[in-house]
Amino acid sequence: MANKVMSVDAIHDLAKTTLMKFGADAENAGAVADTITMAERDGCVSHGLFRLPGYVATLKSGKVNGEARPTVKTLAPAVVQVNGHNCFAPHALKAGRASLIEAAKTCGIAVMPMIGVHHFAALWPDLEEVCDAGLAAFACVNYKPSVIPAGGKKALYGTNPIAFGWPRPGKSPMIFDMATSVMARGEVGVAARDGHPIPEGVGVDADGNPTTDPNEILKGALLAFGGYKGSSISMMVELLSGAMIGESFSYEAAVRDIADGGPPQGGQFIFAINPTLVRGDDGWSEHAEGFFDKIYEQDGTRLPGDRRYQNRAKHLETGVEVSPIILEKIAGL
Ligand code: NDP
Repeated sequence: MANKVMSVDAIHDLAKTTLMKFGADAENAGAVADTITMAERDGCVSHGLFRLPGYVATLKSGKVNGEARPTVKTLAPAVVQVNGHNCFAPHALKAGRASLIEAAKTCGIAVMPMIGVHHFAALWPDLEEVCDAGLAAFACVNYKPSVIPAGGKKALYGTNPIAFGWPRPGKSPMIFDMATSVMARGEVGVAARDGHPIPEGVGVDADGNPTTDPNEILKGALLAFGGYKGSSISMMVELLSGAMIGESFSYEAAVRDIADGGPPQGGQFIFAINPTLVRGDDGWSEHAEGFFDKIYEQDGTRLPGDRRYQNRAKHLETGVEVSPIILEKIAGL
């Protein structure tokens, strides 16, 4: 069957009404639908409608409260804590974002620890509005154990994505957003389904031995990118989104998770920096643009995010092609 072309508004509608059908109220459903729609709009298919059945599973199991009202507490002038009270992360983020921006603008830097949330998405949607306010920003989140610490044999870290955004007044911000595992687990699953081997250095089997068999990696674990260096970055994500904010490490999230197919409960760590206050003047933008020009001068380069922004421009004009398999799955929920 051919893909169905859907407008961005139709995707939002489908996501929101589906979530509301399973107990989310308009505010909670709307926030998650925003994130799903942004992913589809920018061509990040694995975090768009594809995730809707997982979100629904978590509403159905009762693990997530679809009527939660996140609370925002200023712990210090530059620390804005959001407690999601078991909501999906996009709703908590929406509740705290304006306070984070305000605090960073005033203090130069501000941190937003998010606790009691369920994260199941890409990180760049969490930063774009913060960067559009003229701030640089960083976000990270842990998950459930799927990556071994360098030298070890057993999964302990999540795939632990990190994202960093840089504001570009008058343009969309530069945001890179990447898992700290060599490959996403979903891609290993696709290779297993299609019967393709996985390149060496991606994962290990259940006994911790290197393998290129995707089925064995799914029973075992992934490796962090860049060997011990990526492993340390993944460890940093655990510390920032776990001990630093009073939330679970990946292994703790797994213990209390009920494996319903949706995201576990955990925390997310975000900070924002006001370059004008840190530098003492407004010259940062022109200075950085000159640097980006130097990157573009070299054939074959691009900035992280450029692929998404190209997709965005195209999809807003032509609509998004959505797989009929996903639409059938959603209809059958
Ligand atoms: P990719 O490896 O596809 O991309 C990582 C980053 O590199 C992107 O910002 C991408 O920009 C950029 N990039 C890719 N190619 C180039 C290039 N040639 N030059 C410059 N920049 C480039 O992402 P991952 O597979 O690592 O992660 C995919 C998503 O999964 C992320 O959004 C991540 O947040 C999410 N994730 C979420 C988890 C969770 O628990 N919530 C867990 C793990 C991952 P562009 O987008 O423009 O291609």
